[in-house]
Amino acid sequence: DAREAPEPRAPRLPIRPELAHEEPYGAPQLDVPVLLNVNENPYPPSEAVVASIAAAVARAAHGLNRYPDREFRALRTALAAYLERESGVTGLDADHLWAANGSNEVMLHLLQAFGGPGRTALSFAPTYSMYPEYARDTHTAWVAGRREDDFTLDPDVAIALIREVRPAVVLLPSPNNPTGTALPLPVVERILDVARTSGPDGAATVVVLDEAYAEFRRAGVPSALSILADHPHLAVTRTMSKAFGMAGARVGYLAAAPALVDALRIVRLPYHLSAVTQAVALAALGHTDELMAQVASLRQERDALAVWLQERGLDAVASDANFILFGRFSDRHAVWRRLLDAGILVREVGPDGWLRVTVGTPEETAAFRAALTQAI
Ligand code: PMP
Repeated sequence: DAREAPEPRAPRLPIRPELAHEEPYGAPQLDVPVLLNVNENPYPPSEAVVASIAAAVARAAHGLNRYPDREFRALRTALAAYLERESGVTGLDADHLWAANGSNEVMLHLLQAFGGPGRTALSFAPTYSMYPEYARDTHTAWVAGRREDDFTLDPDVAIALIREVRPAVVLLPSPNNPTGTALPLPVVERILDVARTSGPDGAATVVVLDEAYAEFRRAGVPSALSILADHPHLAVTRTMSKAFGMAGARVGYLAAAPALVDALRIVRLPYHLSAVTQAVALAALGHTDELMAQVASLRQERDALAVWLQERGLDAVASDANFILFGRFSDRHAVWRRLLDAGILVREVGPDGWLRVTVGTPEETAAFRAALTQAI
């Protein structure tokens, strides 16, 4: 038979239509000398921390034929003790704690447990750009309200929207990314009050206070951990990626009432936190005093940078985090590009005209200042 068999057509993958034209999410990872773009801690772990981690990983390595402790009780206990010390609260134990591979995964667990088809997650823009991704991936509807022009959240506006949308989950970063602004506790408490019955079918709305940057807050700014005991529908998320300088280890965690934690235990993958990750996190938690001294110097560096930006006649949002949103530029991309040409990577996020710079080492900040002076 001279007829050629038709070339079999490659099967079309049944990718979800809403994903079909999406790009993988993430800030560009460029090879640039001064990285001030993703709010990392500029200081690598000290030799003492590296030594503790290496010893802990070696111990864990001997047991790698076994699956890890799926409940990671030792880590949860250590995280509870750290939070008590950091925030001055009492009464936290392992049952109040949860952890996963970055607070990103903690928040995915929250949406897996409390979001879903027919449910809504709500936040207030400008805000952390990952939130709508968790919503999409869990088939949760996404609504973004607005902050005021000065980036504060008007509680009356927030409450009106919560009443209207009846979200299962409200995501409130404090300090917020990209603005660096923390939410006053009375605002959080007013939202928590409405949230007692504002969720689906008269249930509560889970209010997530994303405190990824909490350790950098200025003196006198309280953490929502201080009101956790009174609010079974409050979840406070934290991370080891920022203040701890452990972004590469991927450890985020959450404190909440034990019943809320139990809901997350249902949706996690079995053994989601590897034995290596658990060992690394526990080892680092043995060095918190040293790490917190470093945080204090980053805070000073941040405040000095904010003053410098303002002296240059730029807007700089008062920050409780390890970054500053600054501007406003008529062409922010041009400024971003000139900084990049000078070897400094910052981030184009937030409303048009603004750029976000992470607080680096004194040397990095000096290089940023020199480059920015040239760029504007
Ligand atoms: N929340 C906020 C507000 C963030 O800015 C980040 C990191 N950029 C995260 C959560 C997630 O951090 P990680 O997954 O590294 O804990």
